[in-house]
Amino acid sequence: MTSTTTTPRSATGAVALRGVTKVYGRGDGTVLALDGVSLDVSPGEFVCLVGASGCGKSTLLNLVAGLDRVSGGEIALGPGVNPGLMFQESALFPWLTVEGNVEVPLKLRGLSRARRRERVAELLRTVHLADFGRKRPHELSGGMRQRVALARTLALETPVLLMDEPFGALDAMTRDILHDELERIWSERQLTVLFVTHNVREAARLADRIILLSSRPGRIIWSTRVDVPRPRRIDSPEVAAIAAEVTDRLREEVGRHGR
Ligand code: ADP
Ligand code: MG
Repeated sequence: MTSTTTTPRSATGAVALRGVTKVYGRGDGTVLALDGVSLDVSPGEFVCLVGASGCGKSTLLNLVAGLDRVSGGEIALGPGVNPGLMFQESALFPWLTVEGNVEVPLKLRGLSRARRRERVAELLRTVHLADFGRKRPHELSGGMRQRVALARTLALETPVLLMDEPFGALDAMTRDILHDELERIWSERQLTVLFVTHNVREAARLADRIILLSSRPGRIIWSTRVDVPRPRRIDSPEVAAIAAEVTDRLREEVGRHGR
């Protein structure tokens, strides 16, 4: 197990991990989920974390989000940064309208009613749901619900988005549209995104940098920069070539584990 006493240089990056280790459980039943993970995400960078199921991707994101504590090492965020977290399920409040859901973080932030109304309208325009504010979550498609979840996360006004397979449950066409929208919003708002997926094409479509995690324990085993110009298409030869390279590395990794 790795641990470190050096303080991460949070000033240099939006998110900094130094020798992060996570152990679940006690005694005989312990699981070493992450082992000595160090990673710097630059402000404005879009980083995709890929790896087989169970390799510790969600664990890493939850630690960065502050939902759980590291067992060793350190995580630093920019001063005052409270990252927004988005999951595969939209986790909307079913009893609230779309507007009501997006308004929740604005209420928590103490915005006036007039200001909230303005911001909700603006955020719904951003995710192309301007005409759906009065609907309830069950009246929307899965893709629309994820857009609402994105608008609600954007309402936090945080510069750092943590996304845990946010489009994993969507059909390919809807996912494609949401990739375009996320890329636009990321670029307009100069967000820093740490995006987890097991879909290598999605990673190649979105990322500035792809990080590959090994399984049991989760360690960073490989990374690559994606220098394909934006906006990208998921079916472009350049994106396919990067995806193929990542797949090869993943295969090697799974092969090493004899599965
Ligand atoms: P991924 O998101 O890459 O699929 P996870 O981070 O969910 O992986 O899980 C990594 C490992 O840690 C897995 O072996 C999983 O079973 C284990 N794990 C995750 N959460 C817990 C928990 N709360 N208690 C015990 N083990 C856990
Ligand atoms: Mg997961």
